[in-house]
Amino acid sequence: MASRSQIHSQKPPLNRRPSSISAVPVAATTPKKEWSLDDFEIGKPLGRGKFGRVYLAREVKTKYIVALKVIFKEQLEKHGLFKQLQREMEIQSNLRHPNVLRLYGWFHDDLRIVLILEYAHGGELYRHLRKSGHFSEKQAASYIASLTQALAYCHEKHVIHRDIKPENLLLDHEGRLKIADFGWSVQLKSESKRKTMCGTLDYLPPEMLEEKAHDYTVDNWTLGVLCYELLYGVPPFEAESQKDTFRRIMKVDLRFPSTPNVSAEAKNLITRLLVKDSSKRLSLKEILEHPWVIKNAEYTDACTN
Ligand code: ATP
Ligand code: MG
Repeated sequence: MASRSQIHSQKPPLNRRPSSISAVPVAATTPKKEWSLDDFEIGKPLGRGKFGRVYLAREVKTKYIVALKVIFKEQLEKHGLFKQLQREMEIQSNLRHPNVLRLYGWFHDDLRIVLILEYAHGGELYRHLRKSGHFSEKQAASYIASLTQALAYCHEKHVIHRDIKPENLLLDHEGRLKIADFGWSVQLKSESKRKTMCGTLDYLPPEMLEEKAHDYTVDNWTLGVLCYELLYGVPPFEAESQKDTFRRIMKVDLRFPSTPNVSAEAKNLITRLLVKDSSKRLSLKEILEHPWVIKNAEYTDACTN
């Protein structure tokens, strides 16, 4: 399945030495333990990432099942992305929420950096969406509610995800949604705004396309895009070329096809998130209080925590 193209306007810094990653402390959950590949029995491959592969694995001693994401240092260095990975690891290892994929720890050898991740048995939400075409309003609202709660938690910790899309959402064995891939996320120190353009074109808000300063509300926009894609099976501003998608986003050229049949309340939520003026988008709290969410979302224990 073709994955959607990623764009970013910041040139990655070149010639970063691998040593910069050695300074990263071992995860907070395992402060005394220095992990190595010998601690794990490696199972089947689960997927392929940009710079390596993800494997199912079991910790030898506890038999605990995890996913190991193996990233080749040479590849990372070639693209100058050490700093970005370091940021991703620092952010993700400090987040604890039932709808955020846990990063338990990491280690490295001469060739590789290995991330020890919570195993998401259900795999990518994207795959499920492609298989069923689109989701029911109940399913979509339940995912939007879980995700909104996870993002509210992230925002409280001053973390903006900036790359919410079905490919970066995984499902666990109970179908619980987990935000994964904090590769584009950023932790704001204060009320400052960011200017980096990142993420996937279909999901980018106007202020990021214009490379204007942006803040937490970029995630609220992407929730609107996601809600549309979950209900219709395609993202709202899809077009023949990237240039046309860009134009449609800038105009907020939002159209609702007649099929599948989607309720007026769902369209109302989407319309109130896909607002060009970022200060006028519904807040995360308002999303959770929206009649469509209240009526349709099925809350599991996980998302009421
Ligand atoms: P890309 O940027 O292309 O998405 P990536 O380097 O970010 O790649 P991931 O998205 O983290 O890599 O992982 C690649 C694939 O491996 C995922 O799409 C998913 O199918 C699978 N995968 C990753 N992490 C897990 C996990 N914890 N549990 C189960 N499967 C996983
Ligand atoms: Mg990914």
